[in-house]
Amino acid sequence: MAVTESAVVPVGTPGESEGVRDTGPGAAERARAAHEGILRRQSARESAARTYARALPIVPVRARGLTIEGADGRRYLDCLSGAGTLALGHNHPVVLEAVRKVLDSGAPLHVLDLATPVKDAFTTELFRTLPPRFAERARVQFCGPAGTDAVEAAFKLVRAATGRSGMLAFTGAYHGMTAGALEASGGATDVRVARLPYPQDYRCPFGIGGDRGAELAARWTESLLDDTKSGVPLPAGMILEPVQGEGGVIPAPDTWTRRMREITRARSIPLIVDEVQTGVGRTGAFWAVEHSGITPDVMVLSKAIGGSLPLAVVVYHDDLDVWQPGAHAGTFRGNQLAMAAGTATLAYVREHGLAERAAAVGARMLDRLRPLATEFDCVGDVRGRGLMIGLELVDPEGPPHPDPDGPRPAAPELAAAVQRECLRRGLIVELGGRRSSVVRLLPPLTISDEQTSAVLDRLADAVSAVSATARGDRRHGRDGEQGADGPR
Ligand code: PMP
Repeated sequence: MAVTESAVVPVGTPGESEGVRDTGPGAAERARAAHEGILRRQSARESAARTYARALPIVPVRARGLTIEGADGRRYLDCLSGAGTLALGHNHPVVLEAVRKVLDSGAPLHVLDLATPVKDAFTTELFRTLPPRFAERARVQFCGPAGTDAVEAAFKLVRAATGRSGMLAFTGAYHGMTAGALEASGGATDVRVARLPYPQDYRCPFGIGGDRGAELAARWTESLLDDTKSGVPLPAGMILEPVQGEGGVIPAPDTWTRRMREITRARSIPLIVDEVQTGVGRTGAFWAVEHSGITPDVMVLSKAIGGSLPLAVVVYHDDLDVWQPGAHAGTFRGNQLAMAAGTATLAYVREHGLAERAAAVGARMLDRLRPLATEFDCVGDVRGRGLMIGLELVDPEGPPHPDPDGPRPAAPELAAAVQRECLRRGLIVELGGRRSSVVRLLPPLTISDEQTSAVLDRLADAVSAVSATARGDRRHGRDGEQGADGPR
């Protein structure tokens, strides 16, 4: 498997020269001063709502594959990957070549939603990768360049097609930050969607997990829809993530996904599958719906489909295509560079079997990480699918669950400590989940075996350090602070 950057790089050492570098006397001090100045100006000028920048005080200046180099010369292994966007890692040669080709060709960069050869190639490649049964009757709407805009488009589409307005969404969901998408997300407070239980083993709302917990979740969904006094009128659609990412890396069992398909089909409710994060090989199938074999009515796609540049589309069954011209207009729906980068990425993932590789590498990572839950009492659960992996940090001293094998309380302060310790060891990880207590890994699908080992070693070492400190703190009666839900 071809990996395009030097495999594992030591932390804290400046990289070899690429382009013009300051290597004269005092260069390291100048680099550190520049780095600190940029961070200082960022915190003085940017919004209180900034997210990742708070926990990751780094200033990326160069990146290749899994590796990022900061302005201070430090190098990091990046398992955040632009929140799961970078299927091929940073600056993959095929992506750079595709972008350069458009730039050198004299093609217009801004075209609204007009037809272009670049767009035609993207649509052809996208349809080629989609599940065939879905693709054969599919239409695509290019959206404003963010996953959340494609979610809004999906809602608008099914509302226009059904004449109904309600929406079914799940506990723990994350669909974006614009009004409609936010309302369908688990953290919403001002809500007009009906919330249904998403199946999960570790914190199963029915206390049993497994197939039985998932079946009860499905029955609850059925009963809400069929009970004429449930308070949930027949909705315009149901939206679900095949694996909840921001919700804490919770893969839905395939049987449950199939049950959702049967339940919605039997009641003529369009099923919207949000594959913004799970798409393009991430979960070990090109599209996560392939695991369960369902054919959704609508798929929402973004992140990796733009090959690291902004792009979002909604793809749907042509029966639903009854909305009016201009129903989801927007100026920036024709990003030619993103389409070219996306075409190259989709083709590369398909041609190099990277979904299969994600399945194999992800399984190996889980095998190595699962023992951490036995070794360290602050690791409550290790779970994932493909290269979406999460470790849930818990408070081992917290009030026990009524069920002796049940989960301990979430420990956001320990998760944040693991993230910090990872960063000290040159590893960038994301936090997610309820109360930001899940340490998340989203490495590029091109990660090599050697890099995988380096990531796992650093993570295990960070968990070990945090566990030792937490034990020491407990012995000395010190407490951590509680956190809220973290960045997306
Ligand atoms: N849906 C899912 C499943 C996501 O993970 C995200 C982003 N994390 C979104 C929608 C929103 O995408 P964006 O941030 O591009 O608006």
